[in-house]
Amino acid sequence: MSIKKCKKCGNELNVKERKCPNCGYKLKRGGCFLILIAYLLTIVGVSYYANYAKEKEQKENTNSNIYSRSWRSPKNNEYATFGKIIVNSSISVCSEYKVKQINDDEYLIACTNDGENWNYFVINPTISQIYKAHYKITNNISPPR
Ligand SMILES: [Zn+2]
Repeated sequence: MSIKKCKKCGNELNVKERKCPNCGYKLKRGGCFLILIAYLLTIVGVSYYANYAKEKEQKENTNSNIYSRSWRSPKNNEYATFGKIIVNSSISVCSEYKVKQINDDEYLIACTNDGENWNYFVINPTISQIYKAHYKITNNISPPR
């Protein structure tokens, strides 16, 4: 049986005792409590991370499904809307472009001037915004032809 000393009177005590029988000093069990907290935090952290990794993987799978869809020509209304955003953004590589819809607000467009070299952009017609597609996207897509 392990023994420790009472902090107040120095009496030798069994570690399991919560109160010194000699002076009545209440013994703290801080060590065990902190270990328990650390242990619980580790469990919460690990399961949180596992969940996060799983969600991220699912999202990436969904995205790669979207990006593997085939390219199409812009529809009439898209042609007008996208054309305006492209011109306003001074993007000069879009004399011809193809479209993939990513979600309600975003479209991936592949732009070319010569039919061989393609540049990829993400366009959001709702807020009239266009930006160059991230390399993680462009790595996952093949050119329109
Ligand atoms: Zn004591």
